[in-house]
Amino acid sequence: MSQPVRVRFAPSPTGFLHIGGARTALFNWLHARHVGGTFVLRIEDTDAARNTQEATDVILRGLRWLGLEWDEGPVTGDPTGPSRGAHGPYFQSQRGDIYRKRVQELKDRGLAYDHEGAVKFRMQREPVIFQDQIIGEISRALTDREQADPDFVIIRSDGLPVFHFVNVVDDLEMGITHVIRGEDHVSNTAKHIALFRAFGATPPAYAHIPLILNPDGSKMSKRDQGATIQAYIDAGFYPAAVANYLCLLGWTPKEGGEFFTKEDAARHFALCDVHRSNARFDMKKLEHFHFEHVRRLPPAEFVELGRPVLERAGLKPEAFPATYLANALATVQEKGKLLSELPGWVDFYFLPDDALNFDPEAKAKALTPAARPLLEKLRERFAALPDFTSPHLEAALKQLATDLQVKAGPLVQPCRVACTGRGVGPSLYHLMEVLGRDRVLRRLDLAIAGPPV
Ligand code: GLU
Repeated sequence: MSQPVRVRFAPSPTGFLHIGGARTALFNWLHARHVGGTFVLRIEDTDAARNTQEATDVILRGLRWLGLEWDEGPVTGDPTGPSRGAHGPYFQSQRGDIYRKRVQELKDRGLAYDHEGAVKFRMQREPVIFQDQIIGEISRALTDREQADPDFVIIRSDGLPVFHFVNVVDDLEMGITHVIRGEDHVSNTAKHIALFRAFGATPPAYAHIPLILNPDGSKMSKRDQGATIQAYIDAGFYPAAVANYLCLLGWTPKEGGEFFTKEDAARHFALCDVHRSNARFDMKKLEHFHFEHVRRLPPAEFVELGRPVLERAGLKPEAFPATYLANALATVQEKGKLLSELPGWVDFYFLPDDALNFDPEAKAKALTPAARPLLEKLRERFAALPDFTSPHLEAALKQLATDLQVKAGPLVQPCRVACTGRGVGPSLYHLMEVLGRDRVLRRLDLAIAGPPV
């Protein structure tokens, strides 16, 4: 019987979760879910100077936001408290004893030795050849510089263990079967395989994922657009849309279809289908994915997504009936706006009639002295409507335009600005139906009375 699959995401807490790191985590998660394996999270925080709780939290927040829960780790929750049974990730900073034992083991085997206060590993002299699950066969001989001294430091003179060493010890201790990581680690893999062999262990399978580049083909740095997951959280992307887009940065499902959940993707995911060429990040495409996912959401889910955004913007949706909130949000769902844009699109539903956020330009253009008599007549017609519903509102406005022999535009824009404060927004007739007769008439009255410009 084959060994149960165990994969891990092993980020160093650098202060942000890079989009490439998030995709690495996602591909690990997909592989684990596809084969029913275990997804381990390990924080590689041996470099105490650079690591802070905040830097770790950024990573955990990003992974949770994407829905990439890890499967195991030391129990952290209070056994009697509400987070009972919660398990944190593994932290290398808490595993010093394990590393000390393992150094001793290599020394005992004559494969590590003290050198100027540090400990060095006796690197194998022959080339290391391995079969990468994505790239294919990779053969790595010692470079000219390494020829002179192939051994490398595994414990620095200040006592801190080096990345290569702790990375391998942990993969070994944690029974990792597949190392799925960024292509930038291909050059480290010979060292890692040599270390596994030194411990008398079989190295895991390696799968190195090509990089994510900027649209112009340059390497992405953390300052580039879309480089950090926090930027997507702040912009109000729908997380499942981001996860969907990340799946496609380096992988194409054989079954076809572009829009799917990560659970769907997990059913079809195979490492051998990961592309060998670099992926290019495309913000427009990601926005399109957001739009498509949000449009498809059941309306009730969209409300749950929108409510906290409105609360944070100080709009107090809880002060309104649940159906009013649902109807208000339903008028913007199909627009597929980023959640950060949502308050700007719907604030007028929740603001007092005399305290709308007027866009000065829209107001100056639409609420002119010439618009007043038109608004007065419109108010009359709206007030007389038996049903204050979108088809009746539309018919009434169009009829008035016909009667006055004007186009609909000169009526629509002043009406929109009077009701919402803005020149663009949800469909006018729908939004008026949601606002209801009282609010609409009051807002028209205020506009007719001429708010001080
Ligand atoms: N801490 C390393 C990194 O963040 C992990 C590399 C690996 O996955 O083996 O790049």
